[in-house]
Amino acid sequence: MKLLPSPEIWFVCGSQHLYGPGPLKQVAANAQAVAAGLAKSKNLPLKVIYKRLLTTSDEITNLMIEANADANCGGLILWMHTFSPSKMWIRGLNILKKPFLHLHTQFNRDLPWGTIDMDFMNLNQAAHGDREAGFIHTRMRLGRKVVVGHWADPEVHERIAAWMRAVRAWTDWQGAKFVRFGDNMRQVAVTEGDKVSAEMKLGFAVNTHGVGDLVAVVDAVKDQDISALCTEYEKVYRVAPALKKGGKRHDELRYSARLELGMGQFLEAGGYKGFTDTFEDLHGLRQLPGMATQRLMDAGYGFGGEGDWKTSALVRAMKVMNAGLPGGTSFMEDYTYHLSPKGHQVLGAHMLEICPSIAGAKPSVEIHPLGIGGKEDPVRMVFDAPAGNALNASLVDLGNRFRLIVNEVKAVKPPKLPKLPVARAVWECKPGFKTACAAWIYAGGAHHTGYSYSVTTEMLEDFATIAGLETVVINAETTLSALKQDLRNNEVYYHLNQGFRA
Ligand code: MN
Repeated sequence: MKLLPSPEIWFVCGSQHLYGPGPLKQVAANAQAVAAGLAKSKNLPLKVIYKRLLTTSDEITNLMIEANADANCGGLILWMHTFSPSKMWIRGLNILKKPFLHLHTQFNRDLPWGTIDMDFMNLNQAAHGDREAGFIHTRMRLGRKVVVGHWADPEVHERIAAWMRAVRAWTDWQGAKFVRFGDNMRQVAVTEGDKVSAEMKLGFAVNTHGVGDLVAVVDAVKDQDISALCTEYEKVYRVAPALKKGGKRHDELRYSARLELGMGQFLEAGGYKGFTDTFEDLHGLRQLPGMATQRLMDAGYGFGGEGDWKTSALVRAMKVMNAGLPGGTSFMEDYTYHLSPKGHQVLGAHMLEICPSIAGAKPSVEIHPLGIGGKEDPVRMVFDAPAGNALNASLVDLGNRFRLIVNEVKAVKPPKLPKLPVARAVWECKPGFKTACAAWIYAGGAHHTGYSYSVTTEMLEDFATIAGLETVVINAETTLSALKQDLRNNEVYYHLNQGFRA
């Protein structure tokens, strides 16, 4: 994936001087062993680095200054092996700009019941030391993740891994650039939003280029590069005979390859991590980019249709979260419904732009007319997304905040769709179609989403905590009355949120 960050996670242990130099040496050695244990875990996507044992307010503050200043530091894991009076942490935590995870663990897994004495008791105090730490985090209203259990427990590693994936996506957003080719689809509300607010709160910048800037790059793509890419298409996909070399529509495949190469060059030159386009502004382009966008998404770029920069940024973040995991992530749209009494389903698709990272089998490259946009027929990849657990996520702008809405779904194998020439997925919503769709609509969720087989609700919740995003989760436990009450409560919470920090 292009521009994928791999930040380090700093492991930091808290204590105090009351214990004397001997026990503190032991505490530091144990903390180092815990950090080394985490660093060795194959399930953790980011490197864990042991920093040091902190025992005074100055040491803590200095470490937080270092963490803020180090671009390689993605976040911190904090653990209080012994008691660390937490007023010492206020100054440091006040200035900390990086996410942190509070690991509530203990060096010894089992208590040595037969030999336990007060020395052992005084050395293994996380049970109350971490409560003191947790109080100050809560008192300061700090968003963080609390993970509980022995540090070698694989389930603990899973919790940490989810958070690390969120940290990675957050790091990726900081300073990220997204480009819009043209503006928004005319009159559409949900794809709009406050780009200044997004840059202030979420760290990424969104800017527009007139499509003519892109056309100039697309038109300058060299013929031999197009030929090489078309050869690759024939190797990787099932290409329709008419589009193959020598076929009567091969020229249209070549134009699609030209789009991919030109857009790729534009994104690369600008250091962009995602993009949007709109069928209402394609002056100088012969086709709406279909396969080109699908291939660029597959390479890791975020994408949102019709100028939807929020979904483009979200798709990119989700792709960063799922880096290295099986199952892909795509831009998606709730397109149409199957409202059979035997079971309600959603058919998800877009006009063209679904990422082949979610293809269940080798995509087929086809060309068909597009009802809107008034351009030449676009080339696109057609495939079915597989059955399996998946989710849809949507990021909307409510005016005073961004809200992330997540719906867990169960994808099913699509039936045969011989007349539908687009990539598609079919899913059943949790807890059920009627509750899920009503909940989604009450929450203001968009028709555009990031759809993923590998990103989990936990990762997105951790991400939202780091980003300060409101989260609305719709899953097997959701009831409409509780959800509606949560939405009302959240209106008050997010209105007063800044005041709570004082
Ligand atoms: Mn759309």
